[in-house]
Order: sequence, then structure tokens, then C-alpha cells
Amino acid sequence: MFDGAAASRLTVAVRWPPVAVRRGIFHCVTLKFPRVPARVSEALVLRTYPLKEADLVVSFLTRDLGKLRGVAKRARRPKNAFGAGLERLSHVRMAYFQRETRELVNLDSCELIRSQFGLVSEYWCGVALDYFAEVSEAMLPAAEPSEKFFRLLLAVLEHLRTAGEGGTWLAVTYFSLWALRLSGWLPELDVCLSCGSFLNDGESPERAFFGRGRAGLICGHCRQALGAGSNSELSVASRLAAGEMVRMPVAHFAGQEWGRATGADLRRFLVQQIESLIERRLVTARLFDESAAGA
Ligand SMILES: [Zn+2]
Repeated sequence: MFDGAAASRLTVAVRWPPVAVRRGIFHCVTLKFPRVPARVSEALVLRTYPLKEADLVVSFLTRDLGKLRGVAKRARRPKNAFGAGLERLSHVRMAYFQRETRELVNLDSCELIRSQFGLVSEYWCGVALDYFAEVSEAMLPAAEPSEKFFRLLLAVLEHLRTAGEGGTWLAVTYFSLWALRLSGWLPELDVCLSCGSFLNDGESPERAFFGRGRAGLICGHCRQALGAGSNSELSVASRLAAGEMVRMPVAHFAGQEWGRATGADLRRFLVQQIESLIERRLVTARLFDESAAGA
């Protein structure tokens, strides 16, 4: 005799697992819940490293949780879940799983908000992108939220987009100064580190000098007294520009002409401060220095 209920039970059994599972939409072994990423963060990709045959380790700065690292499975295969989203400084919405016990998160996918592809075709913009990524990667501690640093990166990227290659030198200088300031390591720019005298007297500003390993500026008198070690001068014009950068957003400088030589002494000073802080030389900063020498 035909048992309708039994037949329908049988049908259910034959159709198990459900179509969605067979198609790989669900991965959760309990099948009770779809595999929803635990978290989605707005992020900027800082750097990727190859891992095994097809995977990547991705360092990325999130707006809400600071700098994180994660594994992007199969990211080096064609038709992966990340597309162009893992390019350097891509602005994305990153979906990932985070486990408290693991240092690396598992990246699920990312949605591109804005790529920096248009900037890469201009050489110095490309170098600036490398520099932003290297400094952020080196300076930022893991998993410490710094929304201001995130906004700083967005602001200098926007400046590069609007100003093009001519905006490189200002963007790099502004970024270096604020990267130090947000980390709490920007030295005072109007006081001698050694004797405490004020350097920026409006009528007759003092000359100011800097050197590797010295966490600030020193006046001409102290330079003579201290001997070698502070052989570069930071011009009054650069000190004034730095003071303006502390007070104003980068957009304020949009109309200003900055060539390679503009603020080159300030950039060298700021780079030396960053390098002291991270205790190594920046690979990308050397490219700027060579350009300053050739300018
Ligand atoms: Zn002094």
C-alpha cells in the first residue's frame, strides 16, 4: 500500500543535503546557521604576503579596530572572493572572522569602495602610496583603534587624487608629520631640545638643526657646543610650513605649489624621526631622498 507520509519522508531524505548546501553556499557543519562573517569593517589594505600556494596574508587598517592581519584563502587563484580589493591601499569593506585565540583573522571577502589604481600610473604617486603603506604598517601597533590615522590616510589619498603627481611632496610631508603627531612622537618644532630656547622669534628666528638619533631640533649655539651629530638645517620656511600643517587640514594646502625641493629638509627630518621610532630605515623614503638630491 502506498504510504504518502513515508514517501514524503523518503523524498526529504533523498534531497538531503539541501540544494544550498550542495552548491556550497553554506559551510557550517551543523547546517543550523548560514556562515555569516562575524564582522565587516571599513578598511585600507596595507600590505600582502604570499602564503602557501594560493593564499595571502593581508595586513589592513580598519576604521574601527585598528591594524589587523588575516589570511585570504585562495586569494591568488583566479575568480577569488577578493578581486582587486587586496591591492595596496585599496579602500574596502572587509568581511572576516575573528577568533580571540588567534592573531590572524580569517578573511571572507571584500567589497571595493575605492581602488587607487588611477594613481599608480604616475610614478611619484605610486612611490607615495608605497610610503604611506610602509609607514602605516611599521608605526601602527596591532589591534589598537586609531580612527584619526585612518582618516589621515583617506585625506592624503584624496589630496593625491585631486592634485595628481604635483601633490606628492605635500601629501608625503603632511602624512609624515601627522603620522608622528598621532603617535605622540612629533618633536616640538619651535624649541631647542638642548637648552630650551625659543627658535621662532618672529623678528629674528634662530637657525635650527637636526641629526639622526636626536629627538628634536637644536639651536646654533647648542650645535657648536654639542659638536657633530646635527648637521642638517631645518629652514625657517619649512618650520613655518610644519606649524601650518599642525593647524590645518591637508585640503587647505590644495592651491600651493610644492615641488621636489619644497620642504625637502622637513621631509628628511620627519623621516629620520619615524626611522628612530621604528628602529629601522624605510625602504621607500630612500627614493624621496634620491629625488631631493637630484632636484
Ligand atoms: Zn639650544
